[in-house]
This record gives sequence, structure tokens and C-alpha cells, in this order.
Amino acid sequence: LPLTPDGQTPVRVLTIAGTDSGGGAGIQADSRTMALLGVHACVAVAAVTVQNTVGVSGFHEIPPETVAGQVRSVVSDIGIGAAKTGMLASTAIIEAVAGVCRELGIGQAGHVPLVVDPVAASMHGDPLLHAEALDALRHTLIPLATVITPNLDEVRLLTGIEVTDDISARDAAVALHALGPRWAIVKGGHLRTSDFSTDLLYDGEHFHELSASRIETRNDHGGGDTLAAATACALAHGYEVPDAVAFAKEWTTHCLKASYDLGAGHGPVSPLW
Ligand code: PLP
Repeated sequence: LPLTPDGQTPVRVLTIAGTDSGGGAGIQADSRTMALLGVHACVAVAAVTVQNTVGVSGFHEIPPETVAGQVRSVVSDIGIGAAKTGMLASTAIIEAVAGVCRELGIGQAGHVPLVVDPVAASMHGDPLLHAEALDALRHTLIPLATVITPNLDEVRLLTGIEVTDDISARDAAVALHALGPRWAIVKGGHLRTSDFSTDLLYDGEHFHELSASRIETRNDHGGGDTLAAATACALAHGYEVPDAVAFAKEWTTHCLKASYDLGAGHGPVSPLW
């Protein structure tokens, strides 16, 4: 991404998501990604997780009006080039976020690109969303999204489609796109059928495939957040969605290679600097 000359106001991106006390995923991954890419990170906290590298043992939800208030406060003063949502935990928070996005012209309600990472569970199975909140994701937030970035578990929860190969990935992309985002991505990083991690993008007309070598590491915590946050940074810089996702995928591959051991579980997908 282009560098901001010294002293000039950089591009700003807002993440609306959950914290990770272990510093691996969620808002910590988003803010780190943005800082490393030269973007100023604004943060609206939607939930606080009790978490380390082994797992998530609980979470506390921020009142929905406080979540929406953080977004309004940032946009009215600082201004943003893109927004990204991650863990939103409940129907009430999802509805508050969708409402404030419509009010402020974020996503397809206006001109500020919106990346919706429909976080439902960690990749190791800890729940991060109340099950009944899937409907709110489907019907209020996803229709506003410029691009959605579900992992394969989230694809199954949202569409009922189990992705096992190229054909089911295309079916899933079509079903996700029917929910109303401008672009749907089916991320193939967790599909262990080849040496490549291939993501499929669909805008209702064209499929784009993005492939990268699969990086084998146990330090895979926060990879989805990193991809979505880097996509938001590139969109804020004016990239079109396929170019933004291609950039983000390269960045995430670099971060997977630079990930490090931490605690007894899964270290973060990130370089230290
Ligand atoms: N914690 C928070 C707050 C998250 O937002 C996420 C993913 O989006 C996770 C944990 C899980 O991260 P991972 O699935 O990469 O382990």
C-alpha cells in the first residue's frame, strides 16, 4: 500500500469487533494489521473475550448503544475510508451495527466500503456468536456488505452448504451472494485437499480464484481477521475488491510465514513488526 508521508493524516479504517486478551485474534489482530500496513486503526469494541492461545472461556457483550455510539463518534470526527466487522456476539449488537451503518452510509448504504467477517466460532470450535443471531447476520448486516469473508464453518452455518471441493465452493459462493453482499468470498484455507489455499470470489456474475501456497503452522490464530482487516485497508486505499483481496491474501501468507510460538496453544498469524 502507498506510504503516508511523515506528519500527514493517514488513511483510517474502523474495526467493529471483539477483543482477544491473548493478543492474537479479533481487535488485536485487526489493529496490528492496520498499523503494519500504515493505516490508522479506529476501534469500536463489541465484545470482550476471555481468551488465551488455548481457547475462549467466555465473553462479555458491550451494550448495543455503546457499540453504535463508538462508530458515530469515530465517523463524526476522524472519518474513515473503510470499516470491518468481526465478532458481534448477539442479535442486538448486529442490529445496532447494521442500523448505524445505514445511518452513516457505511457499506452498500453509502460510499464507505464495509468488510463483514461473519464471525461465529473460533477455528477451534469455541462459540463467538449466539446461535439465534445468525438470522440477524443474514438479513440485516450481510446485505449491507461490500464483501463478506466467512470461513468454511461459517459458510455451512449461513448457507447449509458443506464445502468439500470446487463445485460445492461455487454453490456456496452463489448462496452467499444471494444474501445480498456485493461480493462473497469462500475461503479455502481450511480445505485440506491440495497444497494450495484457494479463495473463490463471486460478485453475481464472475468467479475469481486466488491461490497461494498452503503454509503449515500451528500458529494460525487470527488468520481470518488478518485477511479481512488487510482487505479493508486496501479498499480504503481505493483498490477494487478482487485486487484488495489479492493484496490481503499475499499479506496473510506473509503473516502465516512470520507467525510465532506463544503459550501452549496457537500463536498469532502475524510478524512482530
Ligand atoms: N477471538 C475473537 C475476538 C475473534 O474475532 C476471532 C475470530 O474472528 C477469534 C477469537 C478466533 O480466531 P481464530 O479462529 O483465528 O482462532
